[in-house]
Amino acid sequence: MNRYAAALTLALAGQAGAPASAAPAPADTIYRNGYIYTVDAKDSVQQALAVRAGRIVYVGDNAGARPLAGKKTKVIDLHGRMLMPGLIDGHMHPQSGGSRLLNCSLDYEALTVAQFQSRIQACLDKDKKSGADRWLVVVNWFQQGMLPDGVETTAAMLDALKTERPIIVRSSFGHSALLNTKGVQLAGIKRDTPDPAGGKITRDAKGDATGLLEDAAQDMAMNLLPPLTVAENLAASKAALAAMRKQGITSFLDAYTDPETMTAFADLHKQGKLTARAHFAVLIDLDKGATPQSAVAELLKQQKQFDQGPTVVAPSMQVRHAKLFMDGVISAPAFTGAMLEPYLVNKGTADKPDWQPGASTGPASYFSPEALKTTLTELANARIDPHIHVDGDRAVRESLDAIEALRATPAGKAMRPALAHDEIVAPADYPRFAKLDVTPVLSLQWGKPAPDTVGALKDYMGPQRYAIVEPQALLLNAGARIAFGSDWPVDPLDEWFALKVGVTRTAAPNAGKEYGGTLGPQPGMPRAAVLRAITLNAAYTLRQEALTGSLEPGKLADMIVLDRNFFTIPAEDIANIKVLQTMVGGKIVYQAKGMR
Ligand SMILES: [Zn+2]
Repeated sequence: MNRYAAALTLALAGQAGAPASAAPAPADTIYRNGYIYTVDAKDSVQQALAVRAGRIVYVGDNAGARPLAGKKTKVIDLHGRMLMPGLIDGHMHPQSGGSRLLNCSLDYEALTVAQFQSRIQACLDKDKKSGADRWLVVVNWFQQGMLPDGVETTAAMLDALKTERPIIVRSSFGHSALLNTKGVQLAGIKRDTPDPAGGKITRDAKGDATGLLEDAAQDMAMNLLPPLTVAENLAASKAALAAMRKQGITSFLDAYTDPETMTAFADLHKQGKLTARAHFAVLIDLDKGATPQSAVAELLKQQKQFDQGPTVVAPSMQVRHAKLFMDGVISAPAFTGAMLEPYLVNKGTADKPDWQPGASTGPASYFSPEALKTTLTELANARIDPHIHVDGDRAVRESLDAIEALRATPAGKAMRPALAHDEIVAPADYPRFAKLDVTPVLSLQWGKPAPDTVGALKDYMGPQRYAIVEPQALLLNAGARIAFGSDWPVDPLDEWFALKVGVTRTAAPNAGKEYGGTLGPQPGMPRAAVLRAITLNAAYTLRQEALTGSLEPGKLADMIVLDRNFFTIPAEDIANIKVLQTMVGGKIVYQAKGMR
């Protein structure tokens, strides 16, 4: 927008009845000398921006901002720093993320056994209040990264610690957990305890449990952990918001919420401590006898209890999304992603592998075509947008089919469906996202070589499918509106690393030699597209794009100042970006030391 158009908007935004020629009301804050990346229709870059009463009242050059400076206006010289819209995370799990921040964390680091032990001992020593029966829960364990390579992890490593307490160490990947001997005993695991369905109790040569539980076997211990108390829930949401402010997140979608979580956020809202616009998706689960009608009725009940109405200047809570699961995950050893073609199995030997199509294409989708259609219709009539978990290409296709049918109905036309994850999409379906106006919500950080993408995945998907995993640029080039969702805490909350991977498709420099290079032959996304995914496009999925997601006059002042310029630094350096200031609705909610 040029200066004249901005002045006009200003006049319109001024006091009702004031003549257009009157001096504009002074701004509360003016940013000048910046690299102001607006994410407007032209991705234009401006120099100055002014905020009044929580809204942006001017975007343009320095000179145009001058008349807005009154006696009480705070003028911030950006010294050329980048100012951009606040980040909008379109899929995360703030409560489990926040509660993990409060747990004893190994921070996803590669550790030696001695380091592993001393980190956990430090957690035990710090917590003097817990009794001998209280579980110590250790999270974010990088199990595949234990040093030296291939070292066996057993209960004995934990038994060596000075404590009477049961201990559970949970892998960051979510597929295994290590218990100490007291934990094994409390979980009731004996030599003759059979493996549960979908899980494995790891045993030594004598047949005794080693302490390591895989997949569903983890529940034998997890089910013993008490649910979070009200105070713990409150602490978790507080911790989540603090982490978000620091990263520059100003709006988010809790992609699978519960009343306890929303109660905690409502409490924080009441205390004036809600520092991001909070959206919540309620699960629609047709197991246990629910019908589409009764499940949507339950969602609306929760909406009535927790939704705080249309977006206003101050952050508030909205409940207008439904979460549906169509399948699980394509990764080994789960293979619960619903695929069009079978997973490959090794019909040769370990030394001379021969990967051939096996019998399984993954499970039947968790919603039958009929149930999905009925559920989506109910949601459309209730004006609730569906946010559907789809990992395999069959889950994607069946969801697109159902949405296509729905688009033909009046209620279905207004719906804003999102398909989360989309790790593999059949190329024939790429253009359907644009055609049906379906937003893929992607965790961009998954598009890199990693323990769960190289090696095994290449084998059981086969080269053709492996070449198109994490189809970020492929969907973008087919016209899809890509939105970003971190899926925190599946990975650490690191939005800038995720955006870097979106551009480069490379792992972190310290990830190890086997994870060098890019994931497959696909190109990365252009930087502008990556930023749009985590701002305006994510805002669209929250029906907030008229108010947030770009820096334009009339919109809410949700924005962040960066320590370096996303567009001019080397791509690898994007991961190192630090947010210096986070503003939500015109209020500074986070400020780093480097910001004056
Ligand atoms: Zn998720």
